[in-house]
Amino acid sequence: MTEALPEFTLDRPETIDQAVTAMAKRPSSRFLAGGTDLIVNMRRGLVDTDCLIDLTGISELQQLSDGKSGLTIGAGVTLREICEHRDIRRSYGAIGEACDAIAGPGHRSVATVGGNLCLDTRCMYYNQSHWWRKANDFCLKYKGDTCHVAPTGKRCRAAFSGDLAPALMVHGAEVEIAGPDGRRRMPLADLYHEDGANHLGLKSGEFIVAVHVPPGDTQRMVRSAYAKVRIRGAIDFPLAGVAVACTRLASGEVRITSALTGTNSRPFLIEGFDPIGLDQDPDAAFTNLAKLVQKQVSPQRTSTIGSHYRRLAVSALTQRLAKRLTLELE
Ligand SMILES: Cc1cc2nc3c(=O)[nH]c(=O)nc-3n(C[C@H](O)[C@H](O)[C@H](O)COP(=O)(O)OP(=O)(O)OC[C@H]3O[C@@H](n4cnc5c(N)ncnc54)[C@H](O)[C@@H]3O)c2cc1C
Ligand code: SF4
Repeated sequence: MTEALPEFTLDRPETIDQAVTAMAKRPSSRFLAGGTDLIVNMRRGLVDTDCLIDLTGISELQQLSDGKSGLTIGAGVTLREICEHRDIRRSYGAIGEACDAIAGPGHRSVATVGGNLCLDTRCMYYNQSHWWRKANDFCLKYKGDTCHVAPTGKRCRAAFSGDLAPALMVHGAEVEIAGPDGRRRMPLADLYHEDGANHLGLKSGEFIVAVHVPPGDTQRMVRSAYAKVRIRGAIDFPLAGVAVACTRLASGEVRITSALTGTNSRPFLIEGFDPIGLDQDPDAAFTNLAKLVQKQVSPQRTSTIGSHYRRLAVSALTQRLAKRLTLELE
């Protein structure tokens, strides 16, 4: 059954301040960027709003610069621009590879960085038509009382499925946010909560202005990459995605930073992995890393693919990437 897009008004601010004011006037509005997630969800009756604030006319959100102080990516920069940016690809491999892996070429030409970071969480009981969800008494995330994935639980387990966030996280990215109280900055990893119905730490009326990434690799001492498993190889959300960055420290040790997506309600950094020492057996270290990943992920039955498979897949991907990137550092 085809569902019609509900009627809405469109506000087109040209500055950050105008966007903040527009949202303050009508707090039930939603920010619109490329629309490749929001409009789909509106058609499915998953978004309650009759007013969209289109951010694409704000020039500050289009900034994209890579200099001595690092990389700045405006929230309105499209994924295609990142895919085609040679300097980003050279110094921040994981970021370019994650963008390559998002949706299809048509989507990437309008889909934005801000929209990808603020993507709604996904679940096979939620990303369905209205009549399908109604026939199942809806669910805890929207309009219902029970979670069909974990019926005794009190919170939604829907999975965050954006590919870009972990790639930015392993490069130490921060987000710049604008809202009624002015601007603030925080580590990207702190933007997210482990709650599928409320996974974003944005306050009312706030939106992302830009992402700031510390200076990239000028001396070829850092390697990073992104890999994901998905049902359809050509185009699909990640069942599990992993970004890894390996850095050769001045001491000669190798620091491995990894971050995951698609397995939990938030993308997150793997904690507790010490740098690999010069006298250490790297293979034993990679095995420990894989075990650490398995302990820290908690995929749920939110997809038709079993959660056990996703746990093993993300752990194997992390191990594989860490091994390859460490070799490339030699
Ligand atoms: C067939 C298909 C396949 C897809 N595959 C993938 C995939 O493999 N990987 C993946 O990651 N995504 C995938 N997507 C989802 C989507 O295309 C991308 O995540 C895209 O980057 C979303 O960006 P957008 O600009 O279109 O966001 P929009 O749809 O405009 O917005 C998404 C959400 O972000 C909010 N938002 C937008 N900009 C901001 C901002 N600056 N500050 C705060 N909130 C903001 C909106 O209010 C909305 O809630 C797919 C979509 C489709 C239709
Ligand atoms: S995890 Fe539970 S509450 Fe969340 S979308 Fe799925 S069924 Fe609904």
